[in-house]
Amino acid sequence: MTANLKIGAHLSIKKGYFGAAKEAFRYGMGAFQYFPKNPRSLSVKSFDLRDAEQCREFCLTHQIVSVAHTPYPSNLAIDRQVEPEQFQRIVMSLRNDLEIAEACGSIGIVVHFGTFKARNPLHGYQNIIQCINEVLLGWNGSSKLLIENQAGNHGDMGMTMEEMISVKKLCASPEHMGFCLDTCHAFASGLWPSNKNMDRYFSLKGSQLDYWEGLSVIHLNDSRYPGLSRKDRHARVGQGYIGEAGFKDLFQREALRELLTQEIPLIFETEPGEDGTYSEDMKKVQRWINA
Ligand SMILES: [Zn+2]
Ligand SMILES: [Zn+2]
Repeated sequence: MTANLKIGAHLSIKKGYFGAAKEAFRYGMGAFQYFPKNPRSLSVKSFDLRDAEQCREFCLTHQIVSVAHTPYPSNLAIDRQVEPEQFQRIVMSLRNDLEIAEACGSIGIVVHFGTFKARNPLHGYQNIIQCINEVLLGWNGSSKLLIENQAGNHGDMGMTMEEMISVKKLCASPEHMGFCLDTCHAFASGLWPSNKNMDRYFSLKGSQLDYWEGLSVIHLNDSRYPGLSRKDRHARVGQGYIGEAGFKDLFQREALRELLTQEIPLIFETEPGEDGTYSEDMKKVQRWINA
């Protein structure tokens, strides 16, 4: 495979966005992910535009793809009627994340599908659509809102491709949206519960649903727990229940290979190797893809 693979990891912005980009370059990464602000807070950050622009220019020069990950409390399924202030806080925070991502030249902001605990799941989907519409109202940047599949550890929502597709379709500006596939979540939730049925449940279905077309980023994590465990516990690639065989199989899927030629970023959300870098994991993935 001759494609210019974009592999990297989630990096800290301790030294700013530009600092994270330089770190990615030092590690030989073709891509990286970052939190645009404190991952536990929804406060709007007045960010350093100069720092963001330096990040953008540097990534352009070195052909590094970056993507932002929104803070954890960004729950899209929040009920506007029940918690109007929290709804507004989430909307403002996500819009802020989008603006930071745009300034940094990032392809988008990853946000978890959403958690809705009340009785009627349909209401949860309506909330998600309402929230996304509010965030994207008047947005004309090129950074997209990327919804990520969930492991099932926060309720039943957001584990299937059908939900991703339907929500995107029903939103007012689907052109500003995309998907993030987390392989650990997909495996743990049962999207492909074992490597034997990856083709039928995952690859084929994704094509039938046009899921692959909307896929913008892959979180390349292995799973510490078996398929259908619904546990969100990442392991380094090849060191969990997906294992080397599972990832090798995944990278042989036609749809995936097509996305790799389009330079889709593959991001590790795991700890680095003993040398403090991701080079061992990056080399492994490169080997599996080219096998
Ligand atoms: Zn993830
Ligand atoms: Zn996770």
